[in-house]
Amino acid sequence: MYGLVHSFESLGTLDGPGVRCVVFLQGCPLRCVYCHNPDTWERLELNRKSAKEIFQKVDRCRPYFGYNGGLTVSGGEPLLQAEFVTELFALCHEAGIHTALDTSGHGGDSALVETLLQQTDMVLLDLKMTTEEEYRRYTGGSLQQTVAFLQQLEQKEIPVWIRQVVVPGITDSQENLVRLVNLLAGKQCVQKVEFLPFRKLCQEKYERMGIPFPLSGVPEATDAFCSEYTARFYELFCASRR
Ligand code: SF4
Repeated sequence: MYGLVHSFESLGTLDGPGVRCVVFLQGCPLRCVYCHNPDTWERLELNRKSAKEIFQKVDRCRPYFGYNGGLTVSGGEPLLQAEFVTELFALCHEAGIHTALDTSGHGGDSALVETLLQQTDMVLLDLKMTTEEEYRRYTGGSLQQTVAFLQQLEQKEIPVWIRQVVVPGITDSQENLVRLVNLLAGKQCVQKVEFLPFRKLCQEKYERMGIPFPLSGVPEATDAFCSEYTARFYELFCASRR
């Protein structure tokens, strides 16, 4: 089984618990306006790797994983290559390596995704927008799809970290927080919610690729705002669980 791989990061600390290898795959059905990796959008065949080849790279990093590290597969959108990721995760499980999927819940054959989830220890779920209208406008995808995927994870009791990019003027309002709390109400699988600041480092990449960057006029979000926004979220979220 071959996967279309964009890149491989050996010792990442931002995509899941502990120290992790992160594999970024090619191909994504969405077009988020703040996307950092437009070079992962197309299903380019430039870097085909077998699950075994990738596993061997991951296995070499095992001494650094500690008690909670492992492998995260990100994108693009990893659900589009569910069979490849299933094989890779199965190899990791045979070696006792923790597996995480970084996804928006879009794309992929439902039967293949079901099989993949049997080999998935946790999910980083990108809940990009909190209304269907905004989700469609800013990503081209559907909030309902992400929410249905979250429900599937809840039923399977797979631990989830929710992630949302804080974009000034789009996902930085109190209303967004309230809607997010409502969307997550009753979901016992949700262990953590992370707000990631919108950054514009990718702008150069867009220029090189000749693609207009849709948010060039929008300011970056600050770390201080994201910390305060996170605190406000948890206050609401904890109150909703009492
Ligand atoms: S889902 Fe990720 S890779 Fe795909 S367009 Fe959105 S931010 Fe980019």
